[in-house]
Amino acid sequence: MDTIELSTKLIKFKSITPNSSGSIEYIKKLLEKKKFQCHFLEFGKDKIKNLYASLKGGKGPVVCFAGHTDVVPPGEISKWKTDPFKAVIKNGKLYGRGSSDMKTAIASFIVATMNFLEEKQSVFNGTLSILLTADEEGEAEFGTKSVIKWLKKNNKKIDFCIVGEPTNPKNLGDMIKIGRRGSINFSLEILGTQGHVAYPEKAKNPIDDLFLICKEIKKPFDKGSKRFQPTSLVITSIDVSNNISNVIPEKVIMKFNVRFNDNFNSSKIKSIIHQRIKFVTSKYKLTSKVSGESFINHSDVLTNAIVKSIKKVTNIKPQLSTSGGTSDARFISKICPVLEFGSIGKTMHKTNEMVELKNIEKLTEIYFEFLKNIFD
Ligand SMILES: [Zn+2]
Repeated sequence: MDTIELSTKLIKFKSITPNSSGSIEYIKKLLEKKKFQCHFLEFGKDKIKNLYASLKGGKGPVVCFAGHTDVVPPGEISKWKTDPFKAVIKNGKLYGRGSSDMKTAIASFIVATMNFLEEKQSVFNGTLSILLTADEEGEAEFGTKSVIKWLKKNNKKIDFCIVGEPTNPKNLGDMIKIGRRGSINFSLEILGTQGHVAYPEKAKNPIDDLFLICKEIKKPFDKGSKRFQPTSLVITSIDVSNNISNVIPEKVIMKFNVRFNDNFNSSKIKSIIHQRIKFVTSKYKLTSKVSGESFINHSDVLTNAIVKSIKKVTNIKPQLSTSGGTSDARFISKICPVLEFGSIGKTMHKTNEMVELKNIEKLTEIYFEFLKNIFD
């Protein structure tokens, strides 16, 4: 099977999150032809599509490639040079929504798996597995998160996992993600007492407290750790909803996000935030939603296997990074060592998203070498 052909085929499925639009069903058929045991998993009231497929060769490790076939919406179509769901090849590049994030990586690991099976004539010491979801770019509640729960419930274990997210900033081989920071979104309501602006002594302006709170919560959390940058807090919204010029408002709502490293967990961050607010006022309401805890891969076997493969194919020694946003690796990290490595991310989620054809071929080779390394 040819990776570019499969990439093209996958881009043509209009799988805007959380829809599979036939993409996962199509891959399931391909894997079944190669004797994979396929579990087509539907979760949630909207029956979000997922797939867990595996093929046992021997007693060795269960090695998994994971990914998502859903894509973000294309945005304004007129700004695209090509139809985002036509998968047009132009000047050695494949254009289309999801080309970088991450359908060509899925095509690469499927083809690498097929090539590996062919070379080994299906004799290898371990289990090959593929985990796919159509729910990563959105809520991600009924995607990989639910598949991991299902795996646990059904006693299916994975020993090593590679997620094909676009990790390279510029050149293929630049960067592997070996972990990610955790993330929490906060919403803070600061309460005051409404009043006339001419009589500020008879009211309590929550905006005054807000300034002091901003100063407190923006104080540094740490200096970073061995593998992580410092924990950071970004204020994303301040909302008073007051259109009247002579009224001191009753409340103000501020939203902020904290990205934290492995010096903290989410409950530690929450308690620090409470402390910092309480330093200013006790009249507040704080709600929060944890998107993920921080995690890091501790398996040298996994790291070395992919680093060696990248070096062999690209001659580049990849940087081991923990930068960037969250991905499904946060759910997978709960059951096994996991790394992320895929294509170049420069155009992901942008108009005219594309991947160079030569890099699709190279990524397939890297995944193929990885399978040889990890099963040896
Ligand atoms: Zn992605």
